[in-house]
Amino acid sequence: MIPVTKPFLPPIEEYERYIREIWKRNWLTNNGPLVNELELKLKEHLDVNHLLYVTNGTIAIQLAIKALNLEGKIITTPFSYVATTSSIVWEGCEPVFVDIDPLTCNIDPQKIETSITKDTCAILATHVYGNPCDVEAIQDIAKRNNLKVIYDGAHAFGVKYKGKSIFEWGDISTCSFHSTKLFHTIEGGAIITKNPDLLKRIAYLRNFGHDGPDKFADLGINGKNSEFHAAMGLVNLKYVKEIIETRKGLCDHYSNFLKNFKAVTPRVTRETEYNYAYYPLLFDSSELLVKITDVLNQNWVYPRRYFYPSLENLPYVKKNSGCVMAESVASRALCLPLYDTLSKEEIDMICRIMLRVQNN
Ligand SMILES: *Cc1c(COP(=O)(O)O)cnc(C)c1O
Repeated sequence: MIPVTKPFLPPIEEYERYIREIWKRNWLTNNGPLVNELELKLKEHLDVNHLLYVTNGTIAIQLAIKALNLEGKIITTPFSYVATTSSIVWEGCEPVFVDIDPLTCNIDPQKIETSITKDTCAILATHVYGNPCDVEAIQDIAKRNNLKVIYDGAHAFGVKYKGKSIFEWGDISTCSFHSTKLFHTIEGGAIITKNPDLLKRIAYLRNFGHDGPDKFADLGINGKNSEFHAAMGLVNLKYVKEIIETRKGLCDHYSNFLKNFKAVTPRVTRETEYNYAYYPLLFDSSELLVKITDVLNQNWVYPRRYFYPSLENLPYVKKNSGCVMAESVASRALCLPLYDTLSKEEIDMICRIMLRVQNN
């Protein structure tokens, strides 16, 4: 079987070494030495000043919304994973969907401004497939309208824009280290901000608001992560450059076939150092996508419709029927299998099946 992704697993001995240390220390969670070490190494690797390791990428978004005291309406993209929208609703705010640019699959900045009202407090955008949003246009709009900006960077690990980490943009950026992501710690996530006061606040929020054993600085929740998860991160981080290289080779191999498909890939933003987190195809029609998916499944190949459906179809949000591009892209987008142990022969087989279906 060829799934859309397989989690990277390092040599077990390397993980075991960390686990033995944990046993010796008998310190399993609560800001332990491995969590601290992972935060330090991640800051170096990503070249960012401030980063907090948290339970997962969803709690990272929720903490970001909470830390910025957001209330009212948040402009967001309908083309993302459900956690982007559900976090807004969970925090008591209202998502306002703005359509995407069908070429990049990211929120279309030209359509943001007309959706801003006096109740709008922020923009929450996703770097879809790790492809940077038009961060300059969004910053400009936010500044002029006094809005906060959060980026859901769940896909954007290691991505650079104009030579700098994409996580440096916005008031807060978040990342997910879930097993299905490019870099993972089994479960996990991170919050990145350039603002040290904000960082301090989020550190309190992450740990029940504790300021010492019997003093509370703020309302908080449990957003901590464990030594075991941090250990997986420390081992995997050593391999991430290699993983990205391998995935680049696999993506290039897929792209050899691209000109024959009735499909395109999203346009990667200029001046971007991409991370090859996904290999999405946007087919000419959803009928073709469904036909191809059916035959691939018959051959034990399981690509994923990602993201589908468009988030304004969620039962707990107000639909904005103006998001026609997001509806269209969601109905035609398919992520092909991509993971470090996938072989080029398997890609050949997948592409041959797809071409056969398409051309008969
Ligand atoms: C995976 C993902 C999340 C959620 O991250 P978790 O770590 O699974 O909670 C949020 N947004 C996007 C775009 C994602 O792909």
